Order: sequence, then structure tokens, then C-alpha cells
Amino acid sequence: MKIAVIGTGYVGLVTGTCFAETGNRVTCVDIDERKIAKLKGGTVTIYEPGLEKLFERNVKEGRLLFTTQLEEGIADAEIIFLALPTPPGEDGSADLSYVLGVAHKLGTIMKKGDYKVIVDKSTVPVGTADKVIAGILKGSNNALVPGEDFDVVSNPEFLREGVAVEDFMKPDRVVIGTDSAKARSVMGELYAPFVRSGNPVIYMDEKSAELTKYAANAFLATKITFMNEIARMCELLGADVDMVRKGVGSDERIGKRFLFPGIGYGGSCFPKDVQALAKSAAEVNYDFRILKSVMEVNEAQKTYIIPKIKDYFNNDLTGKHFAIWGLAFKPNTDDIREAPALYIIKELLAAGATVTAFDPEAMPNVKALLGDSIKFAESQYETLADADALIIATEWNEFRTPDFTKISASLKRRTIFDGRNLFDTDLMNKLGYYYFSIGRKTVQ
Ligand code: NAD
Repeated sequence: MKIAVIGTGYVGLVTGTCFAETGNRVTCVDIDERKIAKLKGGTVTIYEPGLEKLFERNVKEGRLLFTTQLEEGIADAEIIFLALPTPPGEDGSADLSYVLGVAHKLGTIMKKGDYKVIVDKSTVPVGTADKVIAGILKGSNNALVPGEDFDVVSNPEFLREGVAVEDFMKPDRVVIGTDSAKARSVMGELYAPFVRSGNPVIYMDEKSAELTKYAANAFLATKITFMNEIARMCELLGADVDMVRKGVGSDERIGKRFLFPGIGYGGSCFPKDVQALAKSAAEVNYDFRILKSVMEVNEAQKTYIIPKIKDYFNNDLTGKHFAIWGLAFKPNTDDIREAPALYIIKELLAAGATVTAFDPEAMPNVKALLGDSIKFAESQYETLADADALIIATEWNEFRTPDFTKISASLKRRTIFDGRNLFDTDLMNKLGYYYFSIGRKTVQ
């Protein structure tokens, strides 16, 4: 099939590459000229495990192309994916200007009799498919006829950054929202190679598909937040959240995954999607109370370790120096959008402290954002020189079993504030550390 993917970010580039991998010819379109120039030059613009190999193979085979020109990109495409940003607007609702701007432009370009399926892959509020149809119609001065010249399908994306390629190639499920039999058949054919092992393609109406994505993300954000609150209770009552997590997670109705407490959820999706769903609820006069609590608790959780650090240093961080391991909002990505590490750094700097950080992939993005306000190290151990304490903000695998002899030798004092519960508390006790983690006994 011939496919166009509009928006070549985390979702668009993975989507385009993976569709090319199953033999389709994909043209990725982006307005960012530097990004397209890099991609054309053979450089993958995001860090995502496994992506580079697929990217190189498909570029070499001539199945994966790049352009900044929408018209050129969609010229012979049968399916057009919109993988555009939907950031929070000022009032928290999803900003649809990127999606609807492109929809309007598509209307000006698409031709009568050249049927195309337009697919919303961006996370968008209920009713957006109708707005995309209206945008295309307006762009075409009502020359195009929905159902005849085009259909708009909602096909939300559930990939996780860090395992995006695996998630895309073997999705738990594919959700396709459309009432059009023609569009349904095109989408079914496109996704068939991805669900060979029997995972379902779930067909539904557009609105249900749109809401499914928000419901999934809001539920996951709620699950993490619930465990963060249980972790607080553990600290107050002297229980151990690791034990509670295991005890709770072995109930199949609850499940083992997504129960790890920490310094809050971040990333480009959960914060904005929870906010957007709460806003959508308000628009239909529904008070979605759980979501309000989730947002409130998570906001506090991102900087939860700051008062702990201040307490430890007698409320004076002036001139104190901190090593930070991990900047990305989660491991295996270079994405720093809404990363808890950034909130922690901001608070530390405001309190007069200095910071040296290390992250295996996210340092260039943080450098671009924070400039010289913090230092960056070449390795996790290099951060420790002259540091008063180590703070762990992202659970990269390489931080899990570090060389404690090196850590002890470099740190000014054996002090670790661990926002991701990486180390065994008994071991930390044995090694003589002050060790604060989330929902567990503080070792001192
Ligand atoms: P992103 O910011 O990484 O990428 C968006 C891309 O669109 C950018 O490269 C930008 O330059 C480009 N763009 C903007 N306007 C354009 C235009 N007019 N024409 C062509 N390109 C344009 O965003 P993302 O993380 O890939 O997310 C895209 C959508 O997918 C969002 O709605 C998001 O909520 C959703 N989503 C994201 C993830 C994720 O893990 N990142 C997962 C599922 C769903």
C-alpha cells in the first residue's frame, strides 16, 4: 500500500518505519526542515531501541521516504496518517490546531474521485473525526464528498516510548474507529501483518475509539498515582511498598504491571491526556473527580523528594552540589517532556544548589533546554565528584547494579535519594549509606 504519515515525531517516525517494514511504501512529511534533512541524510532523529535497524533497511529498500511538502507526500497515498502534536492548550484541553490545520490543507490538495483514508493517530478528544471531516470539506470548498472521496478513521496509538517498535510491530490490540465499510477493509488489510499472533483488531465507532485512548492513559496514570499514595501510607505507617506491591499485584484482577511507585508520571502523554480528559468531562458538565485528584497528587509527587533533601541538609541547600542520574521521563528514551528530573533540578537550583547530571540518551535535549545552568557528565560515575548526594530520577538499567565502591569513594557523603527504588535497603544499610527511597524504610 502507499501511505503518507504527516508529522514525523516519536509516533510518526515509528509508525512510518514499521509500516514500511511490512512492505508498504511510506512517505513521512514534516514541516521541520532540519528534521527532514537529517532523516534524508540517514540519521534517526529520536532514540528508540530497534528503530535504527528498521529505518536503515527500509530507506535502503526505497520504501521509506521523507519530504517537507504535504502535496508531494500525499500525491499517491491511499492512506494518510495524522501523527501531529496535540499539546495542552491554555485551558488544558487538547490543542487541535495542528490536526485541523493539516485537515484543511488536505482539503485543498485532495482530488475528487481519488479516494483516500485519513487516519487520526494523534490522541484527540471525542468529536475530532467530525472536525477533521469538516476541515477537509472547508478546504475543498465542499467539492469533496465524505464516504466517496475520503473517509476519516480514528486509530489511536498505544505504543510506549522506549519499546515503541516492539509495541507497534506486536500490538496488544489495534483500535479502529469508523462507520465506513470501505475504510474498515483498507485498515484491516494494512494491520493484518501486525496481528498474526491473534491479538485483536477492535472495530468501533469513531467516538468510542477516540475515548478509548484517553481512558487507557487516564487509567494507567491513576494506577501509578494510587500506588504513589499507598507508598506515602507505607512511609507513614512503617510498611514496605515493595511487599505491598507484590501482595497486591499477584491478584490477577489488579495485575503486576504499573504498580511501581516513584517520583510521579511524566512524559508527553499522561500529563496532557489526563488534563484533556478532565477538560472534556467539564465541557459536558461532568465532574471527573478521580482525575482531578490524580493530577493534584502527581503534581506534588514530582518534587516529593525535595523536602526530604532539604530536611536532610537542615533546610539549607546553598552551595550544596548534587549528582543526578537520569533525566529522561523514563528509561530507554531521550524524551524529556514533563520529566520529573527537570522539576527536581529547577527546585534545587532555586534553593542555591548546583547539579551535575548524566543520562545515557537525554542529555542533548536537556542541554538545549537548560543550557549551562547545570553540568553534564560523560558517565554516571563522573557526576559524583564533590557531590553532597546522589539523586536518582530515571530507572535506566545501567543504574541498577552500580559499583558502590566507586560511588562511596567519590561522593562527599554516602547519601542517596532514590526516586525509583533501585537498590536493596539492606544492602544500603550494610554499605553505610543514608538512603531515602519511595514508600520504604529510610536507611540512616
Ligand atoms: P512529536 O512532537 O514528537 O511529533 C510531532 C511532529 O509533527 C513534529 O515532528 C512536528 O514538527 C510535526 N508537525 C507539526 N506540525 C506539522 C505540520 N503542519 N505538518 C507536518 N508536520 C508537522 O509528537 P508525538 O510524541 O509523536 O505525538 C504525536 C501524537 O501522538 C500526539 O497526539 C500524542 O498525544 C500521540 N501519542 C504519542 C505517544 C508517545 O509516546 N509519544 C504515544 C501515543 C500517542
